[in-house]
Amino acid sequence: MTKKSYILALDQGTTSTRAIVFDDTGSQIITYQKELKQIFPQSDWVEHDPEEIWEATVEVLRRTLSDCVDLGKKVDTIGITNQRETTVLWDKKTGEPVYNAIVWQDQRTSIACENLSNSDNEKFISKKTGLTISPYFSASKISWILDNVDGVRKNAEDGRLAFGTIDSFLLWRLTGGKAHLTDATNASRTLLFNIHNQKWDEDLLSFWRIPKVILPEVRDSSSFFGITKSGLFDSQIKINSMVGDQQAAAIGQACVRNGTIKATYGTGCFLLMNTGDKPIISNKGLLTTLAYRINGKPTYSVEGSIFSAGSTIQWLRDGLKLISSASETEELAKSLSSNKGIYLVPAFTGLGAPYWNSTVRGTIFGLTLETGPAEIARASLEAVTYQSYDIIKAMESDLGQPIQSLQIDGGMTDNDWFVQYLSNILNIKVARPRVLETTALGAAFLAGLGSGLYSKLEDIENLWKIDRPFCPNIDHTKRLKYLAGWKQAVQKLTMYKPDNM
Ligand code: ADP
Repeated sequence: MTKKSYILALDQGTTSTRAIVFDDTGSQIITYQKELKQIFPQSDWVEHDPEEIWEATVEVLRRTLSDCVDLGKKVDTIGITNQRETTVLWDKKTGEPVYNAIVWQDQRTSIACENLSNSDNEKFISKKTGLTISPYFSASKISWILDNVDGVRKNAEDGRLAFGTIDSFLLWRLTGGKAHLTDATNASRTLLFNIHNQKWDEDLLSFWRIPKVILPEVRDSSSFFGITKSGLFDSQIKINSMVGDQQAAAIGQACVRNGTIKATYGTGCFLLMNTGDKPIISNKGLLTTLAYRINGKPTYSVEGSIFSAGSTIQWLRDGLKLISSASETEELAKSLSSNKGIYLVPAFTGLGAPYWNSTVRGTIFGLTLETGPAEIARASLEAVTYQSYDIIKAMESDLGQPIQSLQIDGGMTDNDWFVQYLSNILNIKVARPRVLETTALGAAFLAGLGSGLYSKLEDIENLWKIDRPFCPNIDHTKRLKYLAGWKQAVQKLTMYKPDNM
């Protein structure tokens, strides 16, 4: 790569599609973003229109590439990172999706998963995949499409359809239908991939009744995936990385050594701890998953997933209309000297790690006539910190040692009040990096590794720079009181099952 060339990362997230150009020092040069419409056909269902995702992808890529031309720079390579688990099936001949993308948050298969979830099945699934039987992962979403969309199962069995997470679908389109591939991190989120032998697993496929012929080939996260089709952009560009968004963020946060840990606070929150070349199977409800696979060598991580983080703030804005922008929550929370005993449990789509309860729903405890937007905003921000605490405790228990610090990123970490409270509740140092777009940075870095700009994974450590650290500054008794209040709230919530479940 010459000094004049750049790396382009495509970050296809849950709420937006972004293209970000980085130079070889990891500095962000150009960004374009398009919001993505959330489709809620009925309660608990969440879909995206794959055509909208494709059109937004082409638009943000064209705009960034055109700006690069204006700057006299050349994009050498593209890296793709994506919302994970979200499932698309499309026709191999026409490239047309047979149904909308079913989003990771979608809970339509929760009853089907509950019915499958006995201890023998859980053991079988966890041993091979490191995951748990949950609607969150792709397998039950694929089965739902095969069973509920007319003619799809037959066409799938006849080899006319392709399945992919969003990375695969976009690669297929970008290469004009030449490449049907995914990477090991995305594969590891499907419930169909054996994380030990790195292969699609026949037993898992028959458990979920999914024909193997629809699956993409699995490659290393940093490798040659294809080249953009002629005529799509001014020049054809190589695609040298594909990686799930949380794994990309961990790389962008330079979590490339055993024991390093990051948390990304976007729509949901995902904490990943690098565990090196050995998969650690959690006793505390955490997932075992691929951190990345490079040169055929898998590196593993332990993951804790919180389903509702920034989406709770989005709900305050768009659902309740309590605020007009997410950043208002900072001033509102700051205006209170305590939480006044109010606890919001944001189980809008059930509870993720370490509870794994897909049938509970959210609630607010402690309301009084005095409760207003400030109290609700603060309770929403606090809830994300308590859920992080639950996961950190589970990680410490699995690791057998205390965690000393946490690297954070994602939209919510723009909120200083939130980050300080997080440090207070976790009682550890929390570090926010200068480049908050760690997801895109991770994908760009892997693409640079694939194209030869960087020589080894550890080079990313020189690109990571801290913005500021946050250290705990809360009274110990107060902290314990807040944590006890949260524990009580979760316990009470799990005793309640809504009638319509
Ligand atoms: P994703 O990649 O999942 O689309 P982002 O990392 O872009 O998410 O973060 C967006 C989320 O962060 C939104 O859900 C939004 O409500 C939340 N958010 C953004 N700014 C703030 C803020 N200042 N305070 C609290 N939450 C915020």
